[in-house]
Amino acid sequence: MDRLADDSHVKQNWRGALVRRLLLLIGACLLLGLITGAYAWALVAGLAAYLGWTLNHLLRLHKWLDEHKPGEPPPDSSGLWGEVFDKIYHLQRRNQRSRERLQAVIDRVQESTAALNDAVIMLDNRGNLEWWNRAAETLLGLKTPQDSGQPITNLVRDPRFIEYFEHHNYNEPLELPSPVSDRRRLQFHITQYGNREHLMLVRDITRLHQLEQMRKDFVANVSHELRTPLTVISGYLETLLDNVEDVNPRWLRALQQMQQQGGRMQNLLNDLLLLAKLEATDYPSDNQPVAIDLLLLSIKSDAQALSGERMHRISLEADPHLRLKGSEAELRSAFSNLVFNAVKYTPNEGEIRIRWWGDEQGAHLSVQDSGLGIEAKHLPRLTERFYRVDSSRASNTGGTGLGLAIVKHVLLRHRARLEIASNLGQGSAFTCHFPNTQVVRRGG
Ligand code: ADP
Repeated sequence: MDRLADDSHVKQNWRGALVRRLLLLIGACLLLGLITGAYAWALVAGLAAYLGWTLNHLLRLHKWLDEHKPGEPPPDSSGLWGEVFDKIYHLQRRNQRSRERLQAVIDRVQESTAALNDAVIMLDNRGNLEWWNRAAETLLGLKTPQDSGQPITNLVRDPRFIEYFEHHNYNEPLELPSPVSDRRRLQFHITQYGNREHLMLVRDITRLHQLEQMRKDFVANVSHELRTPLTVISGYLETLLDNVEDVNPRWLRALQQMQQQGGRMQNLLNDLLLLAKLEATDYPSDNQPVAIDLLLLSIKSDAQALSGERMHRISLEADPHLRLKGSEAELRSAFSNLVFNAVKYTPNEGEIRIRWWGDEQGAHLSVQDSGLGIEAKHLPRLTERFYRVDSSRASNTGGTGLGLAIVKHVLLRHRARLEIASNLGQGSAFTCHFPNTQVVRRGG
């Protein structure tokens, strides 16, 4: 407020001084006119001199602005012109200082990102390289300055990266082998900012990947090694139970329980091996169109057999013209897990509805039951391995706790996603959504 008042005061002063100076000049001219008798000429001469003085200052200002080096002070001048020179000079100094401050910040940011072990790459809105740090050169093999302005998809040519980059859905990071060396594993994070420019972070996760691989191999090997002894034990138990009259009756119940638990262990090992197999590759090798309606028909009759005396009412509506590209064995195991779960977790005579239909978004399979339902807090964790809503309830059903983990993996491999909706006490609906790229439609 004070500054504003000051400024206007200064402006006022300058205006007054100028008026005074002009009046003085006109007065002097009139005096000269009085002496010489030529008023008009005296006035013209006076104003021309003033104009000349002003133009001279203007030219000096122009020359200084044109030729001065940074920090060079303006030429000396008095009055309003001196004030104008000083103000421009101060403005320039202030701009220069803030430029230097900004440059220092940019230098620090660039230095720190350059020193990072993770690669940082800036791309423009068309995906062309703008800037990258040293780690990007070691991890991705980028070359300075040749690669500047090149599209990133020309330099990281893996089709999975191109698909990921062009889909603009960067919620989940992407893992790929490094384009420089197959033994290195990289994780790509992309963020969009500003005018659809991209910031790409690439981390070396080779060690993490090796550990993960060791874990998977360990589980697969243990499951594999346990299978043979278990088959032998189950075989002998079966033989013993087949000759039940030779067995001491005291042992009969124990043997029956051993056989039942042996069966559970075998199911568990089979599921673990199946999961290990699903994790080993990203996509199924088999990609033939599968007739889902026939597959569901056979799953339905298996479910009916599983239900047995529990008398569930199982219905099936399936579009016979819709087929799915993928592995029949994997799809069978995923869908039967969903349908068998519905049988396991629905009370006697409950209703189970299986539907297979298509629309413009793709194809969908839903398994709906009128069973126990699941509390909302469990839904996000349901597809984790060995996650159970109620362990006492699950152990009675003979489940392995791996069913929905298998479903999730199979769906991932078929580019599909699982949606779970459930109300406690009213039933659940498990829906698999397949994109159009996986669907084959036959006329009719
Ligand atoms: P499990 O072998 O124990 O059935 P899953 O991975 O198939 O393992 O399922 C995980 C848990 O999800 C189950 O233990 C069960 O509590 C719950 N669940 C799965 N399907 C249903 C369903 N249709 N209705 C109610 N609960 C279900």
